Amino acid sequence: AKEAGGGCSAHYLPEMGAKAEKVFELETMIKEGLLAKQFTAYFQAKVELSTGKITGAEALCRWIHPEKGIISPAEFIPIAEKTGHILEIGDMMMKQACQFAVECNKVSKEPFVVAVNVSAKQLVYGRMLTTLGKCLQETGCRASWLELEITESLLLSETDDMVELLERIANLGILITIDDFGTGYSAMSYLSRFPIKCLKIDQSFIRDMCSDGQKRVLVTAILAMANGLGLKTVAEGVEDEQVSAELANLKCDFGQGYLWHRPSCPEELLSQIKLTEAA
Ligand code: C2E
Ligand code: CA
Ligand code: CA
Ligand code: CA
Repeated sequence: AKEAGGGCSAHYLPEMGAKAEKVFELETMIKEGLLAKQFTAYFQAKVELSTGKITGAEALCRWIHPEKGIISPAEFIPIAEKTGHILEIGDMMMKQACQFAVECNKVSKEPFVVAVNVSAKQLVYGRMLTTLGKCLQETGCRASWLELEITESLLLSETDDMVELLERIANLGILITIDDFGTGYSAMSYLSRFPIKCLKIDQSFIRDMCSDGQKRVLVTAILAMANGLGLKTVAEGVEDEQVSAELANLKCDFGQGYLWHRPSCPEELLSQIKLTEAA
């Protein structure tokens, strides 16, 4: 698997430095990894705070490399976005998320919603409507079982086309959620302009909201605003009971975090869901 890297080393310029070399190496590895089908979807449960029930999941990409083990998305997603490989990764994630949603909805009494992270590149260059239509049709997944998590920054660029595209996606019945809410920009006009149904509060606010008074104020304000606008809310990065209880008090709808489940392979989460449905 290393021949490609060796063959390309003739192009290495000393001034590129170690970081550029590492990026270049990762680029080549991503290409090889996609060919070898080393990328796959893991899933992390979303829990309804008032009942403790698993009502949905988020698909998180994992790169299972034969020599390097599991490589974090934080490491390869930014590079895949630059090189365009995110389109192929995104399609694969969408397909696996739809397949998983179909499996979960066979065992879940309530509609089970699976969320996929979507990069700006996928919406701008990705023929997203075609991909979505194809995935839903091929897997038998209902539009209402699928959710797209997009980041705030995406809504500030490409505004006109983006409103139209997201309207079309929302009209199919697919849920659209703002991910990492609070970390991007404070311009909130987009909340009324885009067909957003849910805010996912970033884990940097959630993690120590019980020990940091300022963070608690921010979370309280975000939840009050979201409730006032009729938006659903998810808190990510919930690691302890105290935070979970406080969030439930503040009328946050859903939580996601190590307190309940770590991201796992689909079989493992599915068996958890079966257990809770049987209980
Ligand atoms: P994200 O979308 O904000 O996902 C949440 C991250 O927090 C995940 O990291 C998850 O494993 C982690 N997490 C969940 N609960 C807890 C907790 O209680 N404590 C802590 N400390 N962490 C928790 P992960 O899986 O490493 O993903 C990192 C980021 O990579 C994601 O952040 C997302 O921006 C990106 N990413 C992952 N998969 C995809 C994908 O398929 N497509 C795109 N475009 N981006 C992806
Ligand atoms: Ca996310
Ligand atoms: Ca997030
Ligand atoms: Ca994040």
